[in-house]
Amino acid sequence: MAEQKRDYYEVLGVSRGASEDEIKKAYKKMARKYHPDLNPGDKSAEEKFKEVNEAYEVLSDADKKARYDQYGHAGVDPNFGAGGFGGGFDGGFDFGDLGDIFGSFFGGGFGGGRRTNPNAPQRGESIRMSIAISFEEAAFGCEKEVTVERYETCDTCHGSGCAPGTSPEVCPDCHGTGTVQVRRQTPMGVFATSAPCAKCGGKGRIIHQPCKDCRGSGMVWKKKTIQASIPAGIDNGQTISIRGQGNAGKNGGPAGDLLITITVRPHELFRREGTSVLCEAPITFTQAVLGAELEIPTIDGKVKYTLPEGTQSGTTFRLKGKGIPSINGRGRGDQYVTVYIETPKNLNKEQKEALRKFAETMGESETQGRKDFFKKFKK
Ligand SMILES: [Zn+2]
Ligand SMILES: [Zn+2]
Repeated sequence: MAEQKRDYYEVLGVSRGASEDEIKKAYKKMARKYHPDLNPGDKSAEEKFKEVNEAYEVLSDADKKARYDQYGHAGVDPNFGAGGFGGGFDGGFDFGDLGDIFGSFFGGGFGGGRRTNPNAPQRGESIRMSIAISFEEAAFGCEKEVTVERYETCDTCHGSGCAPGTSPEVCPDCHGTGTVQVRRQTPMGVFATSAPCAKCGGKGRIIHQPCKDCRGSGMVWKKKTIQASIPAGIDNGQTISIRGQGNAGKNGGPAGDLLITITVRPHELFRREGTSVLCEAPITFTQAVLGAELEIPTIDGKVKYTLPEGTQSGTTFRLKGKGIPSINGRGRGDQYVTVYIETPKNLNKEQKEALRKFAETMGESETQGRKDFFKKFKK
C-alpha cells in the first residue's frame, strides 16, 4: 500500500461545505504556519507546507474540487493518467485510489453487476411528515414550527467518521470499491461474481480511529425544530417541500428534503371547493318575504349583504373575492352563500291568527310556483 494521503479538507482544517472564502482564509493561515522561511530546517513543516499547497491547488479550482469531491484523490491524481491500466493488476500500482475511479467510470466493467462507488456523494433521504392546520391558516398561509428527528453530518468529524486528526484508509482488499470478485468453479466453467467486501463491509474505507461522537458513521441523530412557511391557498392533502431539511447526505452529498403533507381541519361554517368558499345561512320567513340587511360571516370577518325582497329558500348568492387566495398568488375565489328559510315553530294563538289573516289576504293570488305545480299534476 502506498502511504495514506490525508483528506484535503482536513489538511486545510475546513468542512466539506466550506465556501471559497473560508478555504482561502484557511489556506493563508496554514501556509503561513508551515512556510519554510519561518521553519528553517524543519522537515515535517516542509512536508506540511507541500501538503497544504497541494490541497489548496485542488480546492481552489472549481473543476478539480468537483472531481475531488466526487472521486477523492483519484479524481485529481496526476499519476492516474500516466499510469494507465495495463500493468495495474500486477504492478506496484496504487490501487487504493484507483479503486474509486474504476467504480465510478467503469460501472460494471470490473466483472459485471457492480454497485456504484461507495464513496461517491449521496443525497440524503427525504423525511415525510404531516401537520394539521385550521381552515383560515390554509386560506391565508401561516408559519409553523415543526420538529423533526434526522441524521445530521457529525460536527466533530465533518462526516468523515474519523477521530480528529486521522483519516480513513482505503480498503486494501477491495481497493476502495467496496466489492470483491469471487471466482467460482462450476460444472459450466469458472464464474466471476462480485460480492460486498468483507474487510470493509462494502464501504471501501476502513476507519481505524472512529470519531467518538458518531462512532464512525459520520452522522448523528438529532432533533431539530424547523420553521415551515405554509403558503396561502394550500388545500387539504397537498404537500410542501423544504429543500435540504431532510437527512444529511453521505460523502459530502446534499441533504434530502423535508416533505410536509397538510391536513386542513374542517370549519364549522365553511366548506371549500378549490378557491371557492361555500356556506349556508339561515334566514327568517319575514326576511325572505320582505328582504333584509344580512350580516354574513366570511374568512375576512362579517360583511353586509342586502337580501332582496321575495328571496326563495335555497337561493345562492355570491360574495366576490371573499374566497380562498389562489396558491400561485393570482387573485382570490368567491364565497357562495345559500340561504334557507327557517319555518317558525310554536307560534302563539295571536301569531297564528295573524298568519291566517295574511293567508286570506293572499286569496286567489296563489303563488306562481304552486299554480305551475298543480297544473303539471293534472296532466
Ligand atoms: Zn463524527
Ligand atoms: Zn474492502
